[in-house]
Amino acid sequence: MFAARRKDSGLDLEAVEMATRSGLHQAGAAILAGLLTEEGRHAGQVACQCGQPAHYYGHRPRQLLTVLGSLRFNRAYYVCQHCRKGQSPRDRELDVEGVFCSPGVRRMMAVAGSDSSFDQGREQLELLAGIAVTAKAVERQAEAIGGDIEACQQSEVRRAKQLELPAVCGPAAPILYIEMDGTGIPVVKAETEGRTGKVDGQPAHTREVKLGCVFTQTTTDQEGRPERDQDSTTYVAAIETAEAFGLRLYTEAWRRGWSRAHQKVVIGDGAIWIWNLAEQHFPGAIQIVDLYHARQHLWELAAKLFPAGDQARKQWTARCLARLNRGQIEALVKILRGLQLADKELAKIAANEAEYFERNAERMRYPVFRVQRLFVGSGVVEAGCKTVIGARLKCSGMFWTVRGANAIIALRCCRLSRRFEDYWADRSPAA
Ligand SMILES: [Zn+2]
Repeated sequence: MFAARRKDSGLDLEAVEMATRSGLHQAGAAILAGLLTEEGRHAGQVACQCGQPAHYYGHRPRQLLTVLGSLRFNRAYYVCQHCRKGQSPRDRELDVEGVFCSPGVRRMMAVAGSDSSFDQGREQLELLAGIAVTAKAVERQAEAIGGDIEACQQSEVRRAKQLELPAVCGPAAPILYIEMDGTGIPVVKAETEGRTGKVDGQPAHTREVKLGCVFTQTTTDQEGRPERDQDSTTYVAAIETAEAFGLRLYTEAWRRGWSRAHQKVVIGDGAIWIWNLAEQHFPGAIQIVDLYHARQHLWELAAKLFPAGDQARKQWTARCLARLNRGQIEALVKILRGLQLADKELAKIAANEAEYFERNAERMRYPVFRVQRLFVGSGVVEAGCKTVIGARLKCSGMFWTVRGANAIIALRCCRLSRRFEDYWADRSPAA
């Protein structure tokens, strides 16, 4: 470095700082290797999994990738004469048993792999941390940690199922909201076999991720509009059946103090599975159909009823929207049912819409909800579909397996719910 500088009197700062970091990493790795090495000490024998003793076999070298780079250290190794299994208690103590890298590197890989594509994660690790790993290693590690987060969540869900969840402490929330939605992500062919897509007769290319979020509201703004408590939103999501998802979301709501909240609200679009889950797991909650979805139904129907007539369409839509805004759903249904439509297909569409509003009438009493200063839109979960799921899982050229997607989804939900540090502190040892 200094020779180069003397030669052409210039200094390439970036080259120098990177080289210096790399050199310091190497020096650090040497120090770390010294700290990790067990100097000749050993216990004679340790217990083997099979129940027999494993005897000291000698000191054996171990290669490990750390945040300071790759290093080697010696530690005592024991082999069981009964089942021939070898083990190193030191590896277990360091939480590096059966894995090629240290906890610090594993955390970096999980975070990088959950934020962007595995290859971008690899690039970031190299640039930002000077750690060289493959994209595949980032993928494996992010999925392993996501899988472990999911396993922890499933054990909570099992406890919830058996009504064994501990009572929740802390102040009760004035208003606790649950919002649910579904969003499709592209999957590999094998994951959609035998499933029909949205277009009739066409195979599906996506699978639905069900996303739920829980948040609280304490205050309203100066105009009396509801305000979401800052940093109060937590997420759960997975590609799974409505039944499994219902238990997952119930467990999360419990954790957030559902049982003690003064007011409970469930918001979603018109999807039937959402309201089935609301009835089953959140009885007694105020149910609200997202106002913007309801409006969208009217706009879309109006476009079909009046394909050309601009003025007529405007008038008709305004009449319907006024009923909707006033929560006069019966009057709205009457308008829809009163349509005299010669076109059979159109008549069927209108009848379906009438049925949609009729079915959800009690969930569309918007003036009542406004008086109570409640949210009437599912904006939080819709934003969640984009930030939690779309931003990472819907990038072009990505095709997921259900297992891989669910692991990354679990990891992202954990991080975006601000729980990753807690999870990491309490995590189970490396597999
Ligand atoms: Zn054994």
